[in-house]
Amino acid sequence: FLTLGIETSCDETSVAVVKDGREVLSNIIYSQIDIHKKFGGVVPEVASRKHVEIISLIMKEAIDKANVLLDDINLIAATYGPGLVGALLVGLSFAKGLSFSTKKPFIGVNHIEGHICANYIEHKDLEPPFLCLVVSGGHTHLVYVKGYDSYEILGKTRDDAAGEAFDKIARALDLGYPGGPLIDRLAKEGNESAIDFPRAYLEEDSFDFSFSGLKSAVLNYLNKMKMQGIEVKKEDVAASFQKSVVEVLSNKTIWAAKEINVNKIALAGGVAANSRLRKELEILSKKNGLKFYYPSNILCTDNAAMIASSGYFSYKSGRQSQLSLNAFPNLKIGERL
Ligand code: ATP
Ligand code: MG
Ligand code: FE
Repeated sequence: FLTLGIETSCDETSVAVVKDGREVLSNIIYSQIDIHKKFGGVVPEVASRKHVEIISLIMKEAIDKANVLLDDINLIAATYGPGLVGALLVGLSFAKGLSFSTKKPFIGVNHIEGHICANYIEHKDLEPPFLCLVVSGGHTHLVYVKGYDSYEILGKTRDDAAGEAFDKIARALDLGYPGGPLIDRLAKEGNESAIDFPRAYLEEDSFDFSFSGLKSAVLNYLNKMKMQGIEVKKEDVAASFQKSVVEVLSNKTIWAAKEINVNKIALAGGVAANSRLRKELEILSKKNGLKFYYPSNILCTDNAAMIASSGYFSYKSGRQSQLSLNAFPNLKIGERL
């Protein structure tokens, strides 16, 4: 069973062919990062236009690379939210047009559920139920994955997303964009106990997160040092900031796993590529008798293979979308529109 996946929710144009929801035959990713870099973030209008220009080409490449014919495809899956509305509409409209002209079934996919499903591709034996910590550029969620098409949000960020915090601190340190990978790399040379930044655990029974206090603390620290004319060690700031983020994310994930009584935890989203976060959860999982899963780096950040996988499992669970499906910039995990 072959699924064609299409992803255009932000600044990656991606098309993939995935067999039986877990085997990647092709996963073509065109990142616009070099275009948006000079603006320090994604410019929505530019993103949409670039998607329009390149999507047909990426689609052809994905089909060719998979060594299949369009006729062999059994299901067309495309992201319909959350994301930038103009960007989403490009991939969604393309997918719907393709479905109409080829008479193949179509399914709309939630981008964040897609991030979670990247784990099914990486780990052929992984089955629900499990707990997933989703940490991406725009989201930070603790999700109880009850079934292949059944999700419950246990907690989420009340302000900044984890990836957003990484990107903002990287900008304050003049490291560049996107900041996550740069902080990850720089932190390896720093002392993570050098500066005592705050950890926001919130109420005792809450699985929510908050990163705005930490962000302010880092910015205040940088300002204070500047005023006093003291040169900061960027490595130490990066490492100490990262430690604070990682500690809260990891501890809450372990607590939640115990609370809902699952023995498997997974990571998903761009920040799942963070080496310190992986290491911490690896250690804590072992200590607590939990199995720990995470996707390889290329499946952590935006790609269409994860969308194809999610679409496949939802379709096999009995769901399909109408061609009247619209894009939903604020689509929630588990929401069915
Ligand atoms: P969303 O999925 O919430 O819509 P997005 O698609 O823009 O947002 P992703 O592509 O999932 O986000 O992830 C991008 C984010 O991941 C960026 O904020 C980036 O800085 C962060 N990131 C990538 N690699 C790392 C890393 N090694 N350490 C920390 N953060 C990282
Ligand atoms: Mg991106
Ligand atoms: Fe994403």
